[in-house]
Amino acid sequence: MKTSRRKFIQASATIASLASAQKLFSQSQKVTKPIVVSTWNFGVGANAEAWKILSKNGRALDAVEAGVQVPEGDPKETSVGLGGLPDRDGRVTLDACIMDENANCGAVACLEHIIHPISVARKVMEKTPHVLLVGDGALQFALANGFKKENLLTEESEKAWKEWLKKAQYKPIANIENHDTIGMIALDSSQNVSGACTTSGMAYKIHGRVGDSPIIGAGLFVDNEIGAATSTGVGEEVIRICGSHLVVELMRQGNSPQEACELAVKRIVKNQPEKSKEIQVGFLAINKNGELGAYALQKGFTYAVYSNDVPNKIFDAKSFY
Ligand code: ASP
Repeated sequence: MKTSRRKFIQASATIASLASAQKLFSQSQKVTKPIVVSTWNFGVGANAEAWKILSKNGRALDAVEAGVQVPEGDPKETSVGLGGLPDRDGRVTLDACIMDENANCGAVACLEHIIHPISVARKVMEKTPHVLLVGDGALQFALANGFKKENLLTEESEKAWKEWLKKAQYKPIANIENHDTIGMIALDSSQNVSGACTTSGMAYKIHGRVGDSPIIGAGLFVDNEIGAATSTGVGEEVIRICGSHLVVELMRQGNSPQEACELAVKRIVKNQPEKSKEIQVGFLAINKNGELGAYALQKGFTYAVYSNDVPNKIFDAKSFY
């Protein structure tokens, strides 16, 4: 279990005191814009960075990029950017995507050696006619755009990988160690929505495996008329239901963000009744009114919220199981 999450569990008393605020959110409580929300406990540090931009009436797109750069650059976070756990060949391969209020989007997948894949994704969005660059092509593009080639495999991650190699069993376990993505979505004071999603993906995955996180519509989707959604957990299951797009479309049909997240999780349960008991998937969504929702397959999915009403707090999402 990650240290940060262990600390979170130990701090359950603090969390209990947040129960009433959490109840508000579970009913898609409306909050004052701007607002930024992000997945997992490391969302707090990321939100703080995003808030520096949002609180000065900055653009949601700039806020989400700056926000997710925090865990990307933190070598202690083993599921994003620098220090991310490698694939089974010992290679750290990163996936990221970004989307703005005008449906512009960019993504990179299986990108090696670059600490901030989210910023490469933004360059793909702004400087190319394409949406997604992968592998060597993404690296070439990053280097041509001034990004520095670095070693992302920290001593700790290398040690963990060598330990894993002894048995080399690939078994994703919900909420534990081998996966966690930061997905961040924000509504700015001009009432524009943007989102970013970045991860090192499943630890010890087959080289070349790409999850939901860099796939627009799966790991992230933004529609400025409606709102935005992002996901974390076993990416294969999110891709199968085009998860984040599904959540946004469910909001378009009149569901609250909370209802939309719940319906998307239930779609996974319907498709995979047995498998869904063993894995984790979580969705996080906001709509244009600043209402938010979060829901997961299993207990343990946390998210962080920063708005004028909620000064950067962690909440426990409700879950199906
Ligand atoms: N969704 C990510 C993936 O499948 C991993 C995670 O969020 O834990 O690559």
